[in-house]
Amino acid sequence: MRGLLYSNGKLQYRSDLPKPVPQSGESLIRVLKAGICRTDLEITRGYMDFSGVPGHEFVGVVEQSPNPAMVGSRVVGEINCGCNACAICKGGLQTHCADRTVLGIKGRDGAFAEYLAMPEANLHGVPDGMADEEAVFVEPVSAAYRIVEQVVVRGASVLVLGDGKLGLLIAQTLDIMGAGVTLCGRHRNKLAILDGTTINAVLEGELKKGKQYDVVVDATGVPAGAAKGMALTRPRGSLILKTTTAEKREIDLNLAVINEISVVGSRCGSFVHGMAIMETGKLKVRNMIDSEFPIEEGLRAFEAAGKPGAMKILLSF
Ligand SMILES: [Zn+2]
Ligand SMILES: [Zn+2]
Repeated sequence: MRGLLYSNGKLQYRSDLPKPVPQSGESLIRVLKAGICRTDLEITRGYMDFSGVPGHEFVGVVEQSPNPAMVGSRVVGEINCGCNACAICKGGLQTHCADRTVLGIKGRDGAFAEYLAMPEANLHGVPDGMADEEAVFVEPVSAAYRIVEQVVVRGASVLVLGDGKLGLLIAQTLDIMGAGVTLCGRHRNKLAILDGTTINAVLEGELKKGKQYDVVVDATGVPAGAAKGMALTRPRGSLILKTTTAEKREIDLNLAVINEISVVGSRCGSFVHGMAIMETGKLKVRNMIDSEFPIEEGLRAFEAAGKPGAMKILLSF
């Protein structure tokens, strides 16, 4: 099959990849569209020591499944696949199973190929009214919604650092959920995506001097974001960390002690919630798409996704 393969530090387009063989409990999915996210770029810089087919944001059609009712359905999939045997999995925390595989990130081939296999239990049907271009955003929107599951956002003053794709989705999601949101970024054109919302979108330097926020979210994608966020969090406020980088980070934790700041790591959220937010129709995702490339031009797509200021790049099959 056609797809992208990352191995020995190199990303290549291949037309001879083996079609995945679904294991017990798994479905085989034909990928329709997939989104390139910052994590994929980090993977090609060595993050997670991954090798295989990257890609975890996708929408596809089920071709084979242990649940015959699923065959032919358009689906998205939760990317963490627990072992289902350990105490953590039995407690319902598959996303934190030590032996988990993660689609296109850890121990499991991902969505930048014609087919992928994943547990049937991870799949969610996509409503008919939701276009493929929108459905690929369910994964990052669910990750944005994870914050709502972790801290009280309704009525809180929230500062989101970073106007990348995730930052824009987080700002919109928390706004919909009743927070007073400021988003601080570096690109006028990206801030403009939030025009017409109640989000206060500002450039660095336009932030109110000395103001601190109940909740600060680091979605900068750069190592320095966490320390910057810490300084902007009010005493007893919460600093949410969304950035992952291949590079290790240093941060002075004295401020966390002195100001009694809760530092909260935040990763994947429930697709049920992500889908529900998408279905409100209030989230602007289509204008975050820069361009779409056929899988044969996957390397060019990665190049485009890596350009400074790039927005969402989609692959189609
Ligand atoms: Zn992602
Ligand atoms: Zn487990």
